[in-house]
Amino acid sequence: MTTASFRDELVHVSALNEFVYCPRRFYYQRYHDQIGTPYELVDGRSKHERQSRRGGWVRERYFRSEELGLHGKLDLIESDDGVVTPVERKRAESETYYPSDEVQLAGYCMLLEAATDEPVNVGYIYLYSTDRRHTVRITDRHRETVEEIVSQIGEMDVDTIPPLTDNPSKCEACSARTYCMPAETAQLEPDRARGTGWEDPESVTLGGDEQ
Ligand code: SF4
Repeated sequence: MTTASFRDELVHVSALNEFVYCPRRFYYQRYHDQIGTPYELVDGRSKHERQSRRGGWVRERYFRSEELGLHGKLDLIESDDGVVTPVERKRAESETYYPSDEVQLAGYCMLLEAATDEPVNVGYIYLYSTDRRHTVRITDRHRETVEEIVSQIGEMDVDTIPPLTDNPSKCEACSARTYCMPAETAQLEPDRARGTGWEDPESVTLGGDEQ
């Protein structure tokens, strides 16, 4: 696939989450197919399948918007008195959700309002780990972040690898680590590590953040 054809594609809403976590990881997932599907994702999918057979909400609906540059499938949509609210379900062992999850949810809200022509300013994040649903109010900042990321993804090209994350604790459980090689990159190309926390790989404490 050529760089041009990547640019022609709409951005999948799940890519927003990946990009916020680490643009470099998103790069590897986008341009290097060899990365295997992590266990957590497979497990999450099977839970989605089980959940999709229960309840009476609208579920598993696909949306796309050329204007937003986005597409994606919503897990669940709750409808109450004509007000539609997306529900994004997450497998989160830490019993919380992350800013990247909020951005992903904002992307779904924007797709939903583009499809319904009604404002969608609230979404829910449901955590399997706690069996709790969290209400997230979608702000202008969320929307701007979505637009910025869609723009940045549109500008990506295969010849330009994004820098290392500035939060090395994300690297321990990163599915792209074997391709990214943060410690080796910092040693062999110190310019790429400057300002990221990987300047001195020996001092990095890996914290086992999510994903
Ligand atoms: S190992 Fe760290 S810097 Fe490299 S892609 Fe993963 S999170 Fe990003």
